[in-house]
Amino acid sequence: MTRDKDGGRAHRVYEALASGSGGVAAKQCFYFGFVLLISALLAISASPLVSSPQYLVGLGILTLATIVAAISPWPKIDRRWAGLLPVVNIGVAGALRDVFRDDAPAVALLAFLPAVWLAFFFLQSGTVIAAIAVTVSLSLPTLLRAFPLIDSVLITRSMLIPLAVAQICFMVALARRRALDERKRTQQALHDKDALLSETKTQEQLLKNIIDTVDIGLVVINCSGGIVLENSAYRELEKFASSSSAKIGESTLIMRYPNTEARIPDHQRPLHRAADRETFKNNVIAYGGSNGRGRKISSSARQIIGLDGERSGAVVVFADVTAYFDAARRQNQFVAAVSHELRTPLTSIIGYLDLVIDGEELSDNVSANLDVVLRNSEQLLKIVEDLLGTQTVRDNGVDLAREVTDVSELTRRACETMAPAANDKQIELELRIDETPSIAVDPARLTQAVINLLSNAIKYTSAHGTVSVTVSSNHAEAEIAIGDTGIGMTDEEQTNLFTEYYRTPSAKNHHIPGHGLGLSITRLIVLAHRGQISVRSIQGRGSTFTIRLPLT
Ligand code: ADP
Repeated sequence: MTRDKDGGRAHRVYEALASGSGGVAAKQCFYFGFVLLISALLAISASPLVSSPQYLVGLGILTLATIVAAISPWPKIDRRWAGLLPVVNIGVAGALRDVFRDDAPAVALLAFLPAVWLAFFFLQSGTVIAAIAVTVSLSLPTLLRAFPLIDSVLITRSMLIPLAVAQICFMVALARRRALDERKRTQQALHDKDALLSETKTQEQLLKNIIDTVDIGLVVINCSGGIVLENSAYRELEKFASSSSAKIGESTLIMRYPNTEARIPDHQRPLHRAADRETFKNNVIAYGGSNGRGRKISSSARQIIGLDGERSGAVVVFADVTAYFDAARRQNQFVAAVSHELRTPLTSIIGYLDLVIDGEELSDNVSANLDVVLRNSEQLLKIVEDLLGTQTVRDNGVDLAREVTDVSELTRRACETMAPAANDKQIELELRIDETPSIAVDPARLTQAVINLLSNAIKYTSAHGTVSVTVSSNHAEAEIAIGDTGIGMTDEEQTNLFTEYYRTPSAKNHHIPGHGLGLSITRLIVLAHRGQISVRSIQGRGSTFTIRLPLT
């Protein structure tokens, strides 16, 4: 404790002595102490001179100057007055030296300390004052005493000390000027940094305020997937969908495929996908709730590339599209009602057309025209049935009538059903069907899913292409892969593929008819079996759709 106190005091004294603008009293006391010490040493060897009236008057003036320095309120006084003290000190040093003359010429060195003090305080002007003061107090008395016998040797000898003092003061002033400039630069740099920091903070606050005012959730993640920025809309979504009140994080959120009870696995969740460097758009997920009561959220992600071209993270946005989905559901119910009303007359039209075409008295021309009418009516009935099928699945979910089924056999039969359509387009159907363990599936629903994929593969492949069907299994799952050499899809087209009514621009550009419902039904069927469906496709080269079903 005491040592700490002493240390603090010593530091304060050091600070005062080294200060370039303050510490006047400390400097004067230090100098006074120094002169007393020298006087004590001189007294041992030349005591009569030290007790001479001139020496004692000199010491008296110094004592007076030190008392004035000690009691003056320096912070309130113009600092230029402080310059008087070293000038007085130099004068006293001259007087003391004059007492000793050639007995102890080194006493002249007492003028160095106040001269340096002047240069340190007042830089160039201090140097000039110090040089003049030293010349007047040290050289002038010698020259006056020798007058008129002044020669060049005497002048040179008497000017040696003033010149040495001037040189040292000049160096001190220079060094101090540089130190001051350096300090100014450092202060400016610090000031600039502070200004920049506060500007950055203001910008950050502004950004936070802006992103908090939008009702779209926004999250920015870094390279390793850690969240660096999130807005209040996302935090609110997290709270809504969180399964545990303690810990919030994407993996603890309740997230389902829309219109199903199937939970989304961790690696398919938006932040996880964005952290895996994926860019995607309009990925609709049901957050929180159950039995369709969750909020439908459409998420999109984009990678952030820094100025150096390196990836620095990703930004993911979440838009609540529940209202849009509700409106779409009402619209779908209307479409379903209309479709239902259309089905009965359409079935009747097709039945009567069959009867008319089978009649014998028709000319070739009429028969060919009726064939066209029949084909279009059948196409219309298929659309109507697809619309009704989708609506039933949407309303009731996929109700599975499971029975132990040989999936290889089921796929083979589906291929047989689609063989005539492939033949019509001269498309080769390549089958590589391994025997798989039988599993409990709904055979009718799974057949519907496989036929949907097969009919798409044939539809989106031009004549003379190939459609390959592979069935295989491992210890955990059975896999049905349907590949084609057709028009394929871009990466972006693939991201929206399983959304209802979505049709790829590629399909539209090729004028291939369709209504964008088959794949969404197929996915619902596969998910109801707790399976997965995925697609790999290259535009212009073909696509492969793969269904994976758990064996247990
Ligand atoms: P539809 O074929 O009646 O339009 P689907 O839901 O079956 O509806 O398919 C949705 C869209 O996906 C299609 O319109 C087409 O753009 C694309 N698609 C599906 N299967 C393929 C495929 N094998 N090759 C290329 N595009 C396909």
